[in-house]
Amino acid sequence: MYNKSQVKRRFISMRLRNITGAQEIIQKCGWVIHDPTAAKGYWDQVFGNENPVHIEVGMGKGRFLIEMAKRYPEINYIGIEMYDSVLVRAVQKAESMEESPGNFRFIRMDARELPSVFGKGDVEKIYLNFSDPWPKDRHAKRRLTSRQFLNRYQKILLPSQSVEFKTDNKELFEFSLQEIKDCHWILDASTCDLHQDNVMNKDNVMTEYEEKFSSKGNPIFKLITHYA
Ligand code: SAM
Repeated sequence: MYNKSQVKRRFISMRLRNITGAQEIIQKCGWVIHDPTAAKGYWDQVFGNENPVHIEVGMGKGRFLIEMAKRYPEINYIGIEMYDSVLVRAVQKAESMEESPGNFRFIRMDARELPSVFGKGDVEKIYLNFSDPWPKDRHAKRRLTSRQFLNRYQKILLPSQSVEFKTDNKELFEFSLQEIKDCHWILDASTCDLHQDNVMNKDNVMTEYEEKFSSKGNPIFKLITHYA
């Protein structure tokens, strides 16, 4: 179903490298929320304001999240990443900035735990960027656009609030459209070539993966959805 080399490059490039001292760097970092379940329902206190919270699930090295935080100071951004070896790159990026916006935080966690960290309405928007394809059928529930994850998102979003998903993986995109349909979510917009779509590409912020794949000529797929 999936192109093997496409899958392999993702898994090897980000996961398996052990970065010495990553845990310690993350532990000391003030941008990381170390006990996120304690913040459930109190995210305004974490940020010191009542601005809306947008999260990126599977943030990777943090470029998208930090750029969004710079562009939109009236939004609070939280990047969720499950591996220390990846999160440490975002931490290093944040710490190397001369002037850093105050409106972002990171959490190291498996997104399966989202409902224990965010109450309903704590989050206004969810970004899923270049999520892992998990090509084997038996791993479908690990895909961040699977019905199991849509169900988790439904627990933290209010009905009109959206999930925005970008990928270069056609099969994952088609799977996602089908899951949305089967779960009776509403498809607000979609494109099979984001960078050629003037409307959907307006104000697009590229992620690390997006830059890499689009520079190879891969079209980028995007959809926006919410539950009724
Ligand atoms: N969003 C970034 C980008 O577009 O450049 C990174 C994309 S990378 C292919 C997918 C990231 O999602 C990896 O860093 C992986 O560790 C993270 N991830 C996958 N499943 C996750 C989960 N259940 N919870 C948190 N992070 C997850």
